[in-house]
Amino acid sequence: MSKFVYDFAEGNRDMKDLLGGKGANLAEMTNLGLPVPGGFTITTDACQRYLAEGHHADGLAAEIDGHLAALETTMGRTLGDPADPLLVSVRSGAKFSMPGMMETVLNVGLNDESVDGLSRQAGGNDRFAWDSYRRLIQMFGKTVCDVPGEEFEEALHKAKVDKGVKDDVQLDADDLRALVTAYKKVFAKHTGHDFPQEPREQLDLAIEAVFRSWNADRAVLYRRQERIPADLGTAVNVVAMVFGNLGPDSGTGVAFTRDPATGERGVYGDYLQNAQGEDVVAGIRNTLALADLEKIDKKSYDELLGIMSTLEAHYHDLCDIEFTIERGKLWMLQTRVGKRTAAAAFTIAAQLIDEGMIDLDEALTRVSGAQLAQLMFPRFDLAGDPASLTRGVGASPGAAFGEVVFSAADAVAAAAEGRQVILVRRETNPDDLSGMIAAQGILTSRGGKTSHAAVVARGMGKTCVCGADEIEIGRDQFSVGGQVVREGDVISIDGTTGRVYLGSVPVRPSEVVQYFEGDLDPALANEPLVAAVHLLMTHADGAAALKVRTNADTGPDAARARRFGAQGIGLCRTEHMFLGDRRELVERLILARTDTERNDALGALQPLQRADFLDIFREMNGLPVTVRLIDPPLHEFLPSLEELAVQVAVAKARGEESERDERMLAAVRRMHESNPMLGLRGVRLGLVIPGLFAMQVRAIAEAAVALAAEGGRPRPEIMVPLVGAVQELETVRAEAEKIIAEVVGDSGVKVLIGTMIEVPRAALTAGQIAEAAEFFSFGTNDLTQMAWGFSRDDVEGAFFWRYLELGIFGISPFESLDRDGVGRLVRIAAAEGRAARPGLKLGVCGEHGGDPESVHFFHEVGLDYVSCSPFRVPVARLEAGRAAI
Ligand code: PEP
Ligand code: MG
Repeated sequence: MSKFVYDFAEGNRDMKDLLGGKGANLAEMTNLGLPVPGGFTITTDACQRYLAEGHHADGLAAEIDGHLAALETTMGRTLGDPADPLLVSVRSGAKFSMPGMMETVLNVGLNDESVDGLSRQAGGNDRFAWDSYRRLIQMFGKTVCDVPGEEFEEALHKAKVDKGVKDDVQLDADDLRALVTAYKKVFAKHTGHDFPQEPREQLDLAIEAVFRSWNADRAVLYRRQERIPADLGTAVNVVAMVFGNLGPDSGTGVAFTRDPATGERGVYGDYLQNAQGEDVVAGIRNTLALADLEKIDKKSYDELLGIMSTLEAHYHDLCDIEFTIERGKLWMLQTRVGKRTAAAAFTIAAQLIDEGMIDLDEALTRVSGAQLAQLMFPRFDLAGDPASLTRGVGASPGAAFGEVVFSAADAVAAAAEGRQVILVRRETNPDDLSGMIAAQGILTSRGGKTSHAAVVARGMGKTCVCGADEIEIGRDQFSVGGQVVREGDVISIDGTTGRVYLGSVPVRPSEVVQYFEGDLDPALANEPLVAAVHLLMTHADGAAALKVRTNADTGPDAARARRFGAQGIGLCRTEHMFLGDRRELVERLILARTDTERNDALGALQPLQRADFLDIFREMNGLPVTVRLIDPPLHEFLPSLEELAVQVAVAKARGEESERDERMLAAVRRMHESNPMLGLRGVRLGLVIPGLFAMQVRAIAEAAVALAAEGGRPRPEIMVPLVGAVQELETVRAEAEKIIAEVVGDSGVKVLIGTMIEVPRAALTAGQIAEAAEFFSFGTNDLTQMAWGFSRDDVEGAFFWRYLELGIFGISPFESLDRDGVGRLVRIAAAEGRAARPGLKLGVCGEHGGDPESVHFFHEVGLDYVSCSPFRVPVARLEAGRAAI
């Protein structure tokens, strides 16, 4: 029979699938002997069954009974006992952290009778007991029974107005007792029944509500954003309540064993005296720095520091912690390996190596290509000394600017119009998620580094400044020091320093990019972040089996990619060389009526091409350069049919006909295709237009010979696009070989000839094609397009949103390789190609070459290299190393 409930002492940190992150780590802390309140965890499996069947799995209720009885025995109290009640919290906790997205109900077990028992436990503190009770009704009403939260807020507001006070804390026990009566009325009005007095019924309903909160809109949205699978379900933790709101010797806080923003060692966190758990994370009150706890309660502070180092030593990583102090007694409510910024991830991984906690391979698992990409974003250039409007807490780094908006809905609407916005809020809550996703950055006036805004922004890699408490936020403007900033005004926020500027501040390259470029400001050379990146990149390069090349088609791009560590060019798209001033030459080629006219046009293009190639070969001296023969349909270089037709008609009407325009129009008509992507392009062009490929091959070979003559070492590889049958390749190859032999002579230059594998038929006949190819390069853009039958230029906006919504795929297959379908074609082609020609060189040059997930796949398949845009080269290098360990 399944087991659905685990006591904390029965679990461990490796059981996250079943117990969720929170439950698994509470179990781990319990078994480490740390002060964790008693409790038990209901598994994700129980949640999945509840969501599938709409009721509890058989046997769950009995198991809960058993574990509750054991908890009551340990605590020496019975749930909701009028004389001396045990109260519990009911907390969600999925495998992956989803901060604030699901529900929690505190103080379960309170009712009209046990509220007095609680007061006695608290030394006759009626105010505390009635405040706890009204919180339960409010939380339970909202979470379990969908009572609109505003109605409770209104009742609370009215109680304060009636009494003529401003703060909740100014309400006394009698006021709160009256408020409970008012809350109960709100509850009954909306639910049609009284607030449940039976403690066990409260518990059951709260557990079900937490299960259901897995499918709350904001949780669904968060999962989609973070790519968390939709079917995992949440575990539910039932934990004996401890109270941080019992007076000044109580409190609650959040701590990090290192700074999650920068990785610096030290004591980081926020503390709120006389407050209950959620108050800190909600960012509702401004908190004290954790270090201040030393002055308030040195004993608890020292104990906490001791526990923090125990946890670091145990997890070998940065941990974050939630704790509560109840009348001088410290309790641990949660720990986990903490989220951190990209910079902190690198810095901490390097620190942990220094401290002997982890080795280099392990360190590589602690960072990712996505984080490295974030570190390559530009920073603000403060050379002009822009005046800072105010300063908050740098909660999630980055440099963002945009128009100010004050609501999530406005942020979403503005983003849909393509405007960049900064979402400005007093604090954020989970309902703001859609706006946070849409905005460039988030600015809040309240809350610390652990507030909702900070945690969620860091998780998304979005710039965030929080707790800028000089800001007064109104409905459609905010003011700071007499300066008013209105909706639509542009501000800039620096998520590293916490500075806020009026207007848009210019940006400069990040120090990590400077490091890759080799022009790092010497003052930054020893920065821990740069040193960490250097250390981990060096290790990744040493570990990687895949080489990383770049897609580049100009000398400067090639040079930059080489500085970024590219080991050659995997794709030089020659068509760019047909644009700009050269368009006219291409037109001449297309309009040519005789061999002579065509040869003249080609003859004019050839030296230009040769010069382009020489530039690139020079920059990549000694490294392979794959030049792809022209691929797109030639009509892409001609004017549009509609425009030209109108132009010719107008000219005719005016009696100003031009023979050239009419010939052009006829050519455009002749070349018009309904499905150009499946039409006259790639190798087909080479077979149809005499001399076109020959001109390019000659230019490549001549450029290589020219570099060799300069003493360089060119390594050209000619790549034929869109091949679907070996005969196509053989035909092109025969002509190319003749030209190469003629040009190269005895210069010693060697030119390889290979093909792209981007038509499914090529993948399926790879064994035959390999007979005529010295290398394959997978063009996964076209291969995806043709395998799925998705037009790569149209689908993203047209219907992918619906596919993503339905979960047909979790991410566009043009972004991250579809392993099952397109990946299978890659596997077949790699295996059959290599079987036919052992040692066949295999690479990939589609966009997927720079996608971290896909890089891991290409490593698995055993390709020789991936090729990606220059800026993604470091990301691919890191991922190639990570894939190999
Ligand atoms: C491809 O199809 O994957 C490819 C690299 O070629 P292009 O994107 O130029 O069609
Ligand atoms: Mg292609």
